[in-house]
Parts: sequence; C-alpha cells; structure tokens
Amino acid sequence: MSEDQIARRFEAVKAQVAQAERDMGRAPGSVALVAVSKLFGAEAILPVLEAGHRRFGENYVQEARAKWPALRERFDDVALHLIGPLQSNKAKEAVALFDVIETLDRESLAKELAREIAKQGRTPRLLVQVNTGEEPQKGGVTPAEVDAFIAACRERHGLRVEGLMCIPPAEQPPSAHFALLAQIARRNGLATLSMGMSGDYAAAIQLGATHVRIGSAIFGQRG
Ligand SMILES: *Cc1c(COP(=O)(O)O)cnc(C)c1O
Repeated sequence: MSEDQIARRFEAVKAQVAQAERDMGRAPGSVALVAVSKLFGAEAILPVLEAGHRRFGENYVQEARAKWPALRERFDDVALHLIGPLQSNKAKEAVALFDVIETLDRESLAKELAREIAKQGRTPRLLVQVNTGEEPQKGGVTPAEVDAFIAACRERHGLRVEGLMCIPPAEQPPSAHFALLAQIARRNGLATLSMGMSGDYAAAIQLGATHVRIGSAIFGQRG
C-alpha cells in the first residue's frame, strides 16, 4: 500500500472512531486509537506518525525493539502498547520499551514486572488480559480467576492495574465478550477497557471501550 493510501485509511478510521463516540454520547477523544503496526516497517508507520498520530501497538518485544528506537528519535512523544503475549524473561525489555503493557496474565509475570519497575524507575501502565472465551491457545486470565488475580497484582506485587484487555474468539459474535469485560472492570473498579479491532471496534465502543486496537483497517493485510 502507498503512503497516501495508508494516510487516507488512517483518517477514515479516526473519523469512524469519532463517529462512534458521538453515536454513543461519549466525550470526543474518550476512545484512544491504538494503531497496531505489527509486521509493518517504518515506511508504513511514517505516514501515520506524520498525520500526527502517536499511539501504536506491537505484538512482539523483539520486533518493537528493532523498529521503534529509530522512529522515537524523530517522534519522541510516541506511546507504545505491548498487545502480544509477554514471556517473563522479556519483562526487563518490555518495561524499558513500552508505555502500556496490555497482556499481564499470570503471577510469575506480575512478579517480574514489579521487580523491573522498581529497578528501572519506569512505570508502564498495566492492563490485565482476560481470556473471555476461555480458549486454551490464548493468553489471558479466565473470567473465574480474574478478580483474585487483580487482587494479587495489587496486594502481593504492589502493581497498579489500570484496566482490562480481551481478544474475543474469532468465530463468535464479539459483543457478549465486550460486555463481560466491561462487567469485570466495573466490579473491580477499573476504568480502562482495551477491546475492539478492525472488524468490531464500533461494537466495542458501544460497550464502553476506552482503547481500540486497529491494524489491518489502517495498514492493510499483514504478510
Ligand atoms: C493484530 C492484533 C490487533 C489488530 O488486529 P486487526 O484485525 O488487524 O485490526 C489487535 N489486537 C491484538 C491483540 C492483535 O494481536
């Protein structure tokens, strides 16, 4: 895709997010757009940066480390979200590189993150991933275990959990999953809800998303 095409698609997505905010009577700008740039290089990301956008999502620590330091030299106010699974042995790099980690989903990782946050004096915002569809191949805490997990993050590891993230099963209508995530957030006093991707972000905004993660609608099909 050409740089012009990517810029146009980005503006269209931005306008649709704003429209969904208006439709729901939500405040303008209350839904943050995370542009998911995984598997795309700097030439695809630049048109979006040049359009003034600063919030991006990446799935892999390694890939983000290869791509973003150079881009950040030119755009130093970029906010990077980690939206892919995080191995505990990459916690150090993740804390150094990311502003938001959306995939906190087990105590061994909570412990490593707490250690690195204390060591590095850098505090990425943390979201707990919930496996709302209870899919064995997917990361995330099950809905039955999530309240206890959030409590353990707070009390045992001293972490400030800010919200929740989910990836609904591909073959199911997503709305029930979005509603479940919103319900879990409410009962745990959490304000941030990362839900909704290219195919379903309008429904997610309807059900209270504060962050939508949009890749292919901006950058096109991956690989
Ligand atoms: C790839 C990915 C996205 C973006 O998906 P699109 O359908 O391309 O918008 C969002 N969230 C997560 C966790 C992803 O892995």
